[in-house]
Amino acid sequence: MRLILLGPPGAGKGTQAQRLVAKHGIVQLSTGNMLRASVAAGTGVGVRAKAIMDRGELVSDDVMIEIIADRLDKPDAAKGFILDGFPRTVAQAEALSALLARRGLKLDAVIEIAVDDNILTDRIVGRAKETGGARADDTVETLTKRLSVYHVQTAPVAEYYRQKGMLKSVDGMGTMEQVGAAVENLLSAATEA
Ligand code: ADP
Repeated sequence: MRLILLGPPGAGKGTQAQRLVAKHGIVQLSTGNMLRASVAAGTGVGVRAKAIMDRGELVSDDVMIEIIADRLDKPDAAKGFILDGFPRTVAQAEALSALLARRGLKLDAVIEIAVDDNILTDRIVGRAKETGGARADDTVETLTKRLSVYHVQTAPVAEYYRQKGMLKSVDGMGTMEQVGAAVENLLSAATEA
């Protein structure tokens, strides 16, 4: 199974991805986690990405596309994967389509987790408190920036997949379990079709 999870920061993509990993035995490819690992390891990409992430802006498409292209070729991705945090721009979505086509692979579903902005703000403020600022970009200022970046640069990605007839949307404002159940319903419909 090959999936994309789309949704604004704080929508619960990471939580839902982990549920899917446990249930379907596929890997979660979170570009945010990959970048944070590069930052922690102090690689060249990590050093450059840190400042961009701390501002709530996006790392360049070229860098992200290269990271994902390499990651898709690792053996563990052969069983299937969940993309979480990628694609985040239409250019990334187009590059992904080309990457998959070249490998003869198709996506089973693109699932958008829809959440209102005011709820996202509350969640991120809560997450910032809970983790004691473990993530340098979990501050109210950066969140506001990340939300506006999402609306300008990533919302068109949902449109890209909607036009291809691939986009499914779930209400992300219920509990973790309710959202998880809605995602599972979509997946069984998508894989039966
Ligand atoms: P969230 O889910 O809270 O939006 P992520 O962990 O997915 O956060 O990403 C954190 C940061 O990493 C983003 O704000 C951005 O700077 C960078 N990033 C992650 N994925 C991408 C991507 N596909 N393209 C560009 N930048 C990215």
